[in-house]
Amino acid sequence: MKTWEPMFMDPEFKETVWGGTGIMSIFGKKIPSAHTGESWEIAARENGNSTIRNGRLAGKTLAEALETNPVEILGYSFMGKGAYRFPLLVKIIDAEDDLSIQVHPNDEQAPVLEGPQGRGKTEMWYVMDAEPDAQIVYGFERDMDPETLDAAIENGVLENYLNYVPVKKGDAFLIPAGTLHSLCGGVILAEIQQNSDTTYRIYDYNRAGLDGNPRPLHLEKAKEVLNFSKVSEDPHENIDEGIVCPYFQVYRRNLRGMQEIAVTTDRFQIVMIVEGSGKIDGIPFRKGDTILLPAAGETVGLEGRAVYLQILG
Ligand code: ZN
Repeated sequence: MKTWEPMFMDPEFKETVWGGTGIMSIFGKKIPSAHTGESWEIAARENGNSTIRNGRLAGKTLAEALETNPVEILGYSFMGKGAYRFPLLVKIIDAEDDLSIQVHPNDEQAPVLEGPQGRGKTEMWYVMDAEPDAQIVYGFERDMDPETLDAAIENGVLENYLNYVPVKKGDAFLIPAGTLHSLCGGVILAEIQQNSDTTYRIYDYNRAGLDGNPRPLHLEKAKEVLNFSKVSEDPHENIDEGIVCPYFQVYRRNLRGMQEIAVTTDRFQIVMIVEGSGKIDGIPFRKGDTILLPAAGETVGLEGRAVYLQILG
């Protein structure tokens, strides 16, 4: 057996006002309540950690494992780039109800607005399941400016300015920092993002949070970072050719029989199973499993019938 076998991860779940039961019904995960909005599949943060299920580091959180074995897990190319910090956060999100309408800052803006610890957040979405009329908000449908935005929110007509995009299973989107976005109810998706939690909400449907209080809005900061230009192109991406940005690369792969993934010592990879089942280096996987391939693990062999996302940091 290899010293560094593929690491299956147990997620940390997050209950949210807009969450549901889809993470259980579709992926068979043991969720904490009927308001489970997020499954943090690969996470090494103070406010959320995934736990390694198998192998020599079984039982350790990803953050603990990174303290003892940063090079073996992350790879050489991440050494010296901000001391052992895991660069990505990978989630499954179940939006039973609409999420807040929000925007994230980029790496230059976040430290200015949040202090030195602030991090930017570019994210991508891969739709794993969607109700027939499901849609997302992706940017504005006309050119905007801060004053028009203020007036639209004040008059309760923000919806008239939003670019709604219909979505179905298999659709993928890149959401660069600065893009206004929201997930509407009836969508379950994989979210791959920079490891950051900085979110500026501009509208939350006047809802109370799980604690009964309205969740805070951050309109002023949002206006500092928003891209106010109209979205002129269909934002759908071709996930089979890959979504490539400075922070991650994500490709959808079909597994029919045997396949190899070449893992090199310079970087980790992640495999997220979105359909089907099989084995990776002899270890059984199924739909909903997220597997970290440590950089020291070398090439892995897959077999089975599955669709998966191959993620490179
Ligand atoms: Zn977001």
